[in-house]
Amino acid sequence: MNKELKACRNCRRITTEDVCPICGEETTHEWQGYVFILNKDRSRIAQSMGADNGEFALRVR
Ligand SMILES: [Zn+2]
Repeated sequence: MNKELKACRNCRRITTEDVCPICGEETTHEWQGYVFILNKDRSRIAQSMGADNGEFALRVR
């Protein structure tokens, strides 16, 4: 687990890749706030973000 985590500029998915595996946008190290969504239908954060299940950043610069 030494890889640096990055976040997608578009959908905020957290990944170690340079390109988002979900939407194909560029990722960045400039993010804050880790969110892990287990059940998007029961998560207010997921609903407010429009996010799916998985790991997301709260804020991406
Ligand atoms: Zn994305």
